Amino acid sequence: MAKKANNLAIAIDIGGTNMRTAIVDEKGKIIAKNSAKTIQKGESGNTVTIQVIDEIKKLISGYGIKKFKGIGVSAVGPIDFKKGAIVNTPNIKYKFIPIIEPLKKAFGLPILFINDCNAGALGEKYFGAGKKFSNLVYITISSGIGGGAIVNGNLLLGKNGNAAEIGHMTVDTEYNLPCTCGKGRGHWEAYASGNNIPKFFRIWTKKNHLETKFPSAAKDIFDAARKKDKVALQFMEELGKINGRGISNVVAAYDPEIIVLGGAVALNNGDLALKYAKKNIDKFLRLPKLEITALGENAPLLGAAASVFHNRP
Ligand SMILES: [Zn+2]
Repeated sequence: MAKKANNLAIAIDIGGTNMRTAIVDEKGKIIAKNSAKTIQKGESGNTVTIQVIDEIKKLISGYGIKKFKGIGVSAVGPIDFKKGAIVNTPNIKYKFIPIIEPLKKAFGLPILFINDCNAGALGEKYFGAGKKFSNLVYITISSGIGGGAIVNGNLLLGKNGNAAEIGHMTVDTEYNLPCTCGKGRGHWEAYASGNNIPKFFRIWTKKNHLETKFPSAAKDIFDAARKKDKVALQFMEELGKINGRGISNVVAAYDPEIIVLGGAVALNNGDLALKYAKKNIDKFLRLPKLEITALGENAPLLGAAASVFHNRP
């Protein structure tokens, strides 16, 4: 059956490592998808902009532009709504990557632009575990930690589109670890993101005079815990305190009905991380449902498509 005109969305998820593009229908079905490494060679952020345009052209060749309702862009933050650009992200070497204007010019379609965690929240709301709920938080635990919050049906954006940067909530003052965001200390991301778990593990073992027989990449620590290694299990308790405080802050701030966790760490080891986190969530809080995303790595991509179909962040 031929698809009627204007009922598809072009979705893009721009990350520090990968750039994914997809054609998505109104039901959230991915019809075509490409993935490429985000290019970080070249003088300016326009390098990335040009790559985005090329990737879209490749993806939709043979489709005809009239089939598409718009382009939804999910990007690693921080973003700047007013400038329509990705700005000062620690994940890509360029300070300024223009998005909205150049894409409008290249394709003549409406451009919807949000950060990847907010996109993740929309993806869950329309196509995932959040369908039945008006209050949900999407948390990504990957190389960093981020969040997107939908409260009373509204996606919280803030002045530039970076609300719910929950990875930079303070969860510890004992170790006081410096955070990837710059000068912050004790932030959730500094302990529990895929990039920072190894550092936290090393500092924790040293402080407690513990010896380990396994390498300290995040994956190795979780693997050792699954094999009941004593030190690894003890560390799970310590990491559980950090994650429990992080999730408690989220519950206290947004009162969600459901929290959905995505990102590589959650997808690969979320069951283990959640088990220990749950013990440490403040007991006075009303606990929401806690789930690992069923959308895999596609939550932000699907959220970008949802923003086109529903004309929102
Ligand atoms: Zn931080």
